[in-house]
Amino acid sequence: MLKIDGSQGEGGGQLLRTSLTLSILTGRPFRMTGVRARRRNPGLQPQHLAAVEAARRVSGARVDGVELDSQVLSFSPGLVWPDRYEFDIGTAGSCTLVLQTVLLPLALAPAPSTVRVTGGTHNVAAPPFEFLAWTWLPLLARMGVRASLELVRRGFYPRGGGEVLARIQPGALAPLAVPRRGRLLATRAEATVAGLPRHIAERELAVVAQGLSLTEECLRLHELPPDQGPGNVITVTVESDHVTEVFAGFGQRGVPAETVAEGVCVDVRRYLDSGAAAGPHLADQLLLPLAVAGGGVFTTSGISSHFRSNAALIAEFLPARVETRQEAGACRVTVTPDGRPQP
Ligand code: ATP
Repeated sequence: MLKIDGSQGEGGGQLLRTSLTLSILTGRPFRMTGVRARRRNPGLQPQHLAAVEAARRVSGARVDGVELDSQVLSFSPGLVWPDRYEFDIGTAGSCTLVLQTVLLPLALAPAPSTVRVTGGTHNVAAPPFEFLAWTWLPLLARMGVRASLELVRRGFYPRGGGEVLARIQPGALAPLAVPRRGRLLATRAEATVAGLPRHIAERELAVVAQGLSLTEECLRLHELPPDQGPGNVITVTVESDHVTEVFAGFGQRGVPAETVAEGVCVDVRRYLDSGAAAGPHLADQLLLPLAVAGGGVFTTSGISSHFRSNAALIAEFLPARVETRQEAGACRVTVTPDGRPQP
């Protein structure tokens, strides 16, 4: 059984989810101590419990230590079982992170599956639905994954109640090369309010229009029924030849709409100036599929601590080496098999 220190590096939920996914894909059981040890509320929280439960059901795993706040967990996977799955996080915890945990194992299974996850769809510090659907999944599709995503209902913190549905067909996984993003094709901004005043979204759109020189037809405002809120999100989608990136800002009580939108503009400008294909979030989320596929290359505008700790953890499960090299404005990431015998 692989022994994993969950307090290494970033020390958050990603180490757990990466371990679950790779354990299922490699068939290697693991025991993790120090689960989310570097977080203010360490141990398994509802989103992480749901990810473990999803991984357990999808792979018929034996698990131990799965309770709220637990910092020790063991997981022994069985065979992946394609089926119709429904997972309810029970809070506004991120649906997209739970879905990411099981999507790849199911996509490499020999029969179709559907996965319905209920919880939050637009959460601070997690991929918003649009990022998963427009950025992450299309790159996996280029590698051979066959899946589609539907946003059934939006769910915001603290109410939750959102729903995401994934339809997954059997596929394969081949290496991916995105060394350049290519020509810039379009930049769009969408501001959404649910159960909050319309002027919040209007003010956010005004800031991104000015900050990113976007014309009226590149801006969309969505006003959702109050029962999907309260909540607010602004996304800026940058579509280029070889990749579509989504940058998001989330309305928070006490933070002016202008500040939320300006934060998104800063992220978009940093990305555009770098010339890289992937933003920092996409970079850490590409490592696992590339390592499983046996390799790949891309450029990124930033290497985060999520990236570093994910890369280190992946090397504990797979004979994969992640190398980074600074180039003008961007960082080139290469994932290669490192020649060690497959465990
Ligand atoms: P915790 O920090 O409470 O343990 P967690 O389980 O949500 O939280 P993290 O370990 O912080 O997990 O991982 C969060 C993941 O969400 C990372 O892969 C990060 O890149 C991704 N992410 C965060 N914000 C965004 C965003 N705006 N767009 C895309 N991905 C994001």
